[in-house]
Amino acid sequence: MKNTSNKTQEDLSQAFHKHEFLLYYQPQWDIKEKKIKGVEALIRWNHPRQGIINPAPYFEHAQEESWIVPLGEWILEESCRTNKLWQTQGYQPIAMSVNLFPQHFYHPHLFKWIEQVLERTQLDPHYLDLEITELTIMDDIPRINKILNRIKGKGIRIAIDDFGTGYTSIRYLKDFPINILKIDQSFIQVLPQDQRYAEVVTHIIGVAHQFDIIVIAEGIETWPQLEFLIQQQCDMAQGYFISEPLPADQVVSLLNPQFENS
Ligand code: C2E
Ligand code: MG
Ligand code: MG
Repeated sequence: MKNTSNKTQEDLSQAFHKHEFLLYYQPQWDIKEKKIKGVEALIRWNHPRQGIINPAPYFEHAQEESWIVPLGEWILEESCRTNKLWQTQGYQPIAMSVNLFPQHFYHPHLFKWIEQVLERTQLDPHYLDLEITELTIMDDIPRINKILNRIKGKGIRIAIDDFGTGYTSIRYLKDFPINILKIDQSFIQVLPQDQRYAEVVTHIIGVAHQFDIIVIAEGIETWPQLEFLIQQQCDMAQGYFISEPLPADQVVSLLNPQFENS
């Protein structure tokens, strides 16, 4: 078991150094405006024999690996560059949502590094969302709060990912500089049949709105799920029912050219 894990980590490390990783982008659909207003960058591996595969499940064993922070740096830079490219090609600007690894919060110059990426890629910070999980927050509440406040002060939005799977009390919605809350797919996939989950989701949306927090529902796979979320005034929808994660060149076919709305 240990050997398999070690081998996998070695494979991943080599894959990173051989530039075999790429990003797919999953559209986020604005329920009121009825259009794509953002995408989430998700890592994929162009494996030399197996083709495009998903390496995400292996990353939980990669906490200590030296390549994990450089990989995260590449993900941020590549996704910001791609978003800027879409804008310069004339598509209506959308938000790029990037998952941070928990290890980034031990990076001594996290804020400076994010600033440098934005400078290099020339992406306006208002078009960048950074996703963190509840576990990352709970690791060291005062320290993480301070870092997030600096990031938010720059105009970048902070999203809490997989909300409901960790231990974040709804109280933190008030105390933390959070712009977006992403309800975990495990809550969404039992909708609308499961009465208790339906009530929990309705409650989360209501409380988030009281704090001016945008709610994204993750993992929507069916029309009845989306219909329920529309009725509950959820803000944004993400999931296979809207679109699977796509390569960059397929995303643009879903974006509006800017001149259409000018
Ligand atoms: P996440 O950030 O919550 O990403 C959403 C996951 O749900 C993605 O899985 C996406 O493909 C999947 N998904 C989207 N819609 C549906 C749906 O309708 N049904 C179902 N069953 N699944 C759906 P993926 O790509 O396997 O990523 C899993 C996790 O790995 C992510 O969860 C995130 O925590 C991590 N991850 C993925 N890419 C990155 C990355 O670039 N950086 C970092 N730090 N973490 C990443
Ligand atoms: Mg995410
Ligand atoms: Mg999630």
